[in-house]
This record gives sequence, C-alpha cells and structure tokens, in this order.
Amino acid sequence: MRPTYLEVNLPQLKQNLENIRKHVSPAKVLVVLKANAYGHGVDGVAPFIAPFADYIGVAIVEEGIHLRKMGIATPILVMGGTLPGQLPDFFEYDLTLAASSLDLLTAAEQLAESARKRLKVHLKIDTGMERIGVREYEAEPLLEKSWACRHLDIEGIFTHFANSEATAPRAERLSGFVEAKLQLKRFQEVLSMYEKRNQPQPAIRHMANSGATLSLRESYFDMVRPGVLFYGVYPARDIEKTIEVKTALAWKSQVVYSKITLPGRGVSYGSLWQAEAPTRTVTIPCGYADGYLRRMSNQARVIINGKSYPQVGRVCMDQFMVNVGGDDVRVGDEVTMLGEGIAPEELADWAGTNEYEVMTNISARVPRIFVGAVQ
Ligand SMILES: *Cc1c(COP(=O)(O)O)cnc(C)c1O
Repeated sequence: MRPTYLEVNLPQLKQNLENIRKHVSPAKVLVVLKANAYGHGVDGVAPFIAPFADYIGVAIVEEGIHLRKMGIATPILVMGGTLPGQLPDFFEYDLTLAASSLDLLTAAEQLAESARKRLKVHLKIDTGMERIGVREYEAEPLLEKSWACRHLDIEGIFTHFANSEATAPRAERLSGFVEAKLQLKRFQEVLSMYEKRNQPQPAIRHMANSGATLSLRESYFDMVRPGVLFYGVYPARDIEKTIEVKTALAWKSQVVYSKITLPGRGVSYGSLWQAEAPTRTVTIPCGYADGYLRRMSNQARVIINGKSYPQVGRVCMDQFMVNVGGDDVRVGDEVTMLGEGIAPEELADWAGTNEYEVMTNISARVPRIFVGAVQ
C-alpha cells in the first residue's frame, strides 16, 4: 500500500455522535456525510455509522445514490439544490427531497402522481443565507401548495444558519449571535403559519448546524444537523465546548529520501527557501494533489520520531521537503502530517483557510484506513 495514508478512527466518530445525542436528546440527529464524509472516506464511515444515525444528510443527489448502492437503508436528505431533471433519481433511490422552490415542489408532485410513487419531502426555508430556499416573507404559497400535494409525504421543514460559528453569546460575536436569533425568529414565523391556518406542522423541523448544536438549544426543534462537530472539530476557535468531541483523523507518510542540503542550494520550485548552514532535509511523498495544500508552503510542520520539524520550500504536487537540522532522520521513518497533536485547526491556519476545507481536500489518491470497524 502507499506509504501516505489517512487513518480514520471509527469508534471515535461513534463516541462523538453519542456525546452529541446525549446533549440534544430528545431531538434526533442527522449525520452529515457529504463531501466524502468531510474527507474521511464515506465508504468506510457510512456503513459503520448509519445504524446509529436517525437521518443522513448529503449535499447532492449523486452522494445519496452512492450511499444507496452501498446498501445504506437509513433515510437520506439531499440538502443542496436540485434540478427538476434530477427528480426521477429521488424516486428510484428513495431519497428525501429538499423542496427549495414552489416550482420544484410542483414538479415533484406531478412526477409522483404520474409515476404513482410517493416521495418524502422537506420544505427548505431561507431565513438569511440567500442560497437556496423560499424566504420567510414568501413562504405562504409554498406551504399552501404543500398542503395540496396528495402524492408527497411532507415529512419535514428546515432552514440553515449563515453563521455556523457565530452563535456564541460573546461580546465579540454579538452581531453573529443577533443574526442567528433573527434567523430563528424568521423560522418560527413560518412555523406559526401552520397554526394560523389550522394545519399540522411537519413532523421533522430542523435548523441547527454544529455551531447552533453547541450553543443555541432553541434551534434544535425535532432534529439537529451537526457536520464538522460529528467529525470532532469545533466550528470556531472560541466557541463554548458544551459537547466533548475529538478528531478521528491521522494523516501519515514515510520519509522517502534523506540528504544533507548545502547553503546556496534553493529547495523546491521557486527556490523559496535556502539553508543557512548544511542541514539534513528529507522528502515526504505527499503533495498538493493529495490535499496537502500548496498555500501551506514554508508554514507547515510535521512530526517525525516524536519531534516537530518545519516544512521548507514550495509544496509540490506529489512531494514536499522538511528541514530536520542535525537529526538522524532516515528513509522509511514515519511522518505525521495530521494527528499526534497536529490538529486540523493548525493546517487551516497554515493554509489561511478553515478546517472544513482542509479535511474535504484530502484527495481520493490518499488511501483511507478505517480503524476499529468491528464493533
Ligand atoms: C453542511 C451542512 C450542515 C453541516 O454544517 P456544519 O457547520 O459542518 O455543522 C448542516 N446543514 C446543511 C444544510 C449543510 O449543508
């Protein structure tokens, strides 16, 4: 197998889910498995975690189809935007539609009627993201249409926070918290339309992402949708850690080349780094095509034999170099890029991005090893 690999600790993910569940109970938990399970590898994560999830969330219909073809039987909500032409797949693979417009809801009802099949639907309300969904001030026609749909099961209604990290009621985040509360109020306004019109509310009302799961209990309703938190990462640095979770990832490799680099010999593309005195540099067979982001050049650190060393020069597509100074680091020595105290947060800082982007960029070329799959 390739010396560069990603180790995924499945029991840790289960522990994270259990801790979340304990905190939000009796609300249900939708486990977000989009984007290759936030880079962890959906083929290993999904079969392991599905029996413990009330619902699974994916972004696009293809991700839902992939899960069904794997034999996953848990209800799956496709949370992102859907084109009318993609609707037949929802029927064929028993996927739940996020009805984000009156047109889409109408098309689904017509297809259900002509195909003589039923379809589960969650109405998507836009309370302040301006991405997809019907805004609260124009929601009434969508609700009215949903009450008239005879061939759809309007199982849920949901909305999405625009401030995943800004829900903590801290002074410096006050504007984000106020914004989150405003979104909550708008969602409650939509829900109150049901009472005014004497209609039962959908059984599964949901809103909370990771940030709100940590800090805004009023937003739980019937189900929460923690993504990054399930993977053991807090959505913001200073958010209150009301639920204990830990990352399940270790990204490792092995030294593939070891040599003494002399001063005056620039290291890697663009010669961005040079040694001031003779030093040992080692080469790691992992690069930006694996998701070791090029933006981390001359910023990142790795651990070899328990010690932290700086990455030097540009990260190449398939390899990068590390300065180990006078230490005796040899070909074959284990290298840790993530884990052993290096958190996704640090990679995010080195690359000037967030943990979500770091994790979801670990590419398909990196084999995933799932630890503890037998329960
Ligand atoms: C991705 C996503 C989530 C999870 O977001 P986190 O910030 O990772 O918790 C929840 N809901 C929707 C609609 C999403 O697209």
